Amino acid sequence: MSDPIGDDRHSPCPHLVHRYPDRVLLIPTHACAIHCRYCFRKEKLASSPKAFPFSDLLPAFDYIRKHTEITEVILTGGDPLLLPDKTLGLLRSTVEDIPHLRALRIHTRMPIVSPKRITPRLVRALSGKLLVTFVTHANHVRELCAETKTAAELLRRAAFVLLNQTVLLKGVNDDADTLATLFQELFYSHGIKPYYLHHCDLTRGLLHFRTSIDCGLRIMETLRGRLSGVCLPQYVLDLPGGHGKIPLCPPYIHARKGFAWTFRSPTGVLCDYEEVIPENPP
Ligand SMILES: *Cc1c(COP(=O)(O)O)cnc(C)c1O
Ligand code: SF4
Repeated sequence: MSDPIGDDRHSPCPHLVHRYPDRVLLIPTHACAIHCRYCFRKEKLASSPKAFPFSDLLPAFDYIRKHTEITEVILTGGDPLLLPDKTLGLLRSTVEDIPHLRALRIHTRMPIVSPKRITPRLVRALSGKLLVTFVTHANHVRELCAETKTAAELLRRAAFVLLNQTVLLKGVNDDADTLATLFQELFYSHGIKPYYLHHCDLTRGLLHFRTSIDCGLRIMETLRGRLSGVCLPQYVLDLPGGHGKIPLCPPYIHARKGFAWTFRSPTGVLCDYEEVIPENPP
């Protein structure tokens, strides 16, 4: 598909996607430091001008000002960190001046692919009144290096929250050991919490990278029993047509009869569980 997760359907004005009530995607650049074969936005990125004037974002800011249910602005792209610090500072202060906003999130691969981009000057440009979250994107432990660790330390000293998303890719990371190493290294060495493991979107040209959902579920089942919860991301699928992300979970609920449940443990043991609840359950 050319728009695998249906961004276009939820775009009320240019450079903005509003699919969930409390958060919006703001796309301040179509440029990216690298070009991932599996990128769900690659056709959009390839067909749009890489740079545009800041004033093109003004309708998006007007929209956000009018919609008081929005609490979080997510800068994505492309890669927002390809913009100069000054522009990022301007974005941050514009967002900060909207009273109902509480958090600024930045989806970026720069700490992984070009970690020297993370500088004290960048941190200053993004620091202010809002909670800042960085969501990095690493798929294999070999992508992490000493510079990534230094970058992560700089961001953590600034009290930014660090999360990571990973794409499940055949032949790259589609086994429990590879992912366990990546997730533990991200959290224990870099302080970056694994957030999402994405099932591949239906992007054109990546059949050779696709795994089955069964494969992803088996991996998650293995990891659940093995890794600390702080290292464990949620396995998700972004539904085509703009219907949003859903968690893909191994079937831990085996059976139920009223309030008598049978659950399956991470090691495959069936456990009965009788709920204890007040007489009029909510
Ligand atoms: C993924 C996504 C988000 C962010 O979702 P979280 O679950 O908060 O990470 C927001 N808007 C759109 C359109 C998305 O695709
Ligand atoms: S880093 Fe993200 S936006 Fe850039 S090409 Fe890769 S998946 Fe797409």
